[in-house]
Amino acid sequence: MIISFDLDDTLIAKNKFRLEKTNLFQQLFGIENIREGTIDLFKQIKKRNYKIYVYTTSHRSARRIKWTFCSYGIPVDFVINQQKHQKEIKKHNINCSKFPPMYNINIHIDDSVGVEMEGEKYGFKTIIISEKDEDWVQTILNIL
Ligand SMILES: [Mg+2]
Repeated sequence: MIISFDLDDTLIAKNKFRLEKTNLFQQLFGIENIREGTIDLFKQIKKRNYKIYVYTTSHRSARRIKWTFCSYGIPVDFVINQQKHQKEIKKHNINCSKFPPMYNINIHIDDSVGVEMEGEKYGFKTIIISEKDEDWVQTILNIL
């Protein structure tokens, strides 16, 4: 099973939800803060032997994103950023901001209702998490 996560407003945001603590090393290298609970959630998902992908419409480089999660001790298996998505979606005849089946992703987790609607239209599974959901880790684990 492959699970993918959106970044902005799902795992990364300023002043929207509580964040994981960073160490001096991370602060020194300007590593972005991630949502509180992400470390625990990713560890639990890995325990189930699922793969974790990041699927974002941001232009952050794949290397930087991988590095961010590595620094928290929760490496991700694969990163799809906007550049990669744009290149790949051209091969399919659809107009979609994200298209997880293209990467064999079973469930995509996002904050966007627009992505949820795309999922309904194009037949892929999503879990939509509100930035206000303090119990978001459990919300996800209950569905997976
Ligand atoms: Mg988002």
